[in-house]
Amino acid sequence: MTSYKELGLVNTREMFKKAVAGGYAIPAFNFNTLEQMQAIVQAAVETKSPVIMQVSKGARNYANGTILRYMAQGAVEYAKELGCENPQIVLHLDHGDTFELCKDCIDNGFSSVMIDGSSLPYEENIALTKKVVEYAHQFDVTVEAELGVLAGVEDEVASEVSHYTKPEEVVDFSTRSGCDSLAISIGTSHGAYKFTPEQCTRDPKTGKLVPPPLAFDILHEIEKRLPGFPIVLHGSSSVPQDEVDTINAHGGKLPDAVGIPEEQLREASKSAVCKINIDSDSRLAMTAAIRKHFDEKPGDFDPRQYLKPARENMKKMYIHKIVEVLGSNDKL
Ligand SMILES: [Zn+2]
Repeated sequence: MTSYKELGLVNTREMFKKAVAGGYAIPAFNFNTLEQMQAIVQAAVETKSPVIMQVSKGARNYANGTILRYMAQGAVEYAKELGCENPQIVLHLDHGDTFELCKDCIDNGFSSVMIDGSSLPYEENIALTKKVVEYAHQFDVTVEAELGVLAGVEDEVASEVSHYTKPEEVVDFSTRSGCDSLAISIGTSHGAYKFTPEQCTRDPKTGKLVPPPLAFDILHEIEKRLPGFPIVLHGSSSVPQDEVDTINAHGGKLPDAVGIPEEQLREASKSAVCKINIDSDSRLAMTAAIRKHFDEKPGDFDPRQYLKPARENMKKMYIHKIVEVLGSNDKL
């Protein structure tokens, strides 16, 4: 058993309480590689922001769980080295799908886990979540649960259609499951193709797709029923058009990629939404920089030559999200 406390990590409890009270949201960035981790830590330290570094089951398979755990410990030490006296870094399991996976993460240094029983029948979702909560709370690890189904594809998680969270279920679900935070479905979606062109309208001036708005009425109804309870939004990348354009201009092929407009995420951050998950934007920033680099310097073959600009581009994106969208800067 390795406790997250030994690694210098924190759970989400105090962080979320402050975020809900302060009207901002904590960034939850997915990571699989050294460069992503470095960029996340640099961005969090420079902006004085708490941060959630999250790992999906797919990331654990890709990078190895043990390596990722020590990378998170390294992130804490690196943040201190960069001058941050009291880094607030969470290592979180994204979309845990079984009790065993959650237990394995809790036993191996994670400070927070998500158990995603959203595809199960309601009562089974409660029972599974409760089982994880009972185990996690013995070690002061916080648990995120999900109610409602998001559309889109994220590693092993895929659904063609979304089912909005039913506000009438949230009090019963959170009370009986004992979860510490709740991911809800109000129209966000996983991946870089969050909406089909048929679901969108087109801006007559630019010809770009305009996605349907988030269901803020459902969010506000949930807030009313669960005052002050931490709410989480998954699938909240904005799929920046300039990165998509860079990728497409340098040999990529991402037609009609579309995300969640930042002004809607800015609005959500001011509510009980206290954790916003961003993964695709980091992938796009990395890929755009690498494609551009190879196009301009086809003779380069040292990975540092193209991973350095990729890291810089991701860092710029992370800082932008923290300062301009989530408002979690200057909170340490
Ligand atoms: Zn998700």
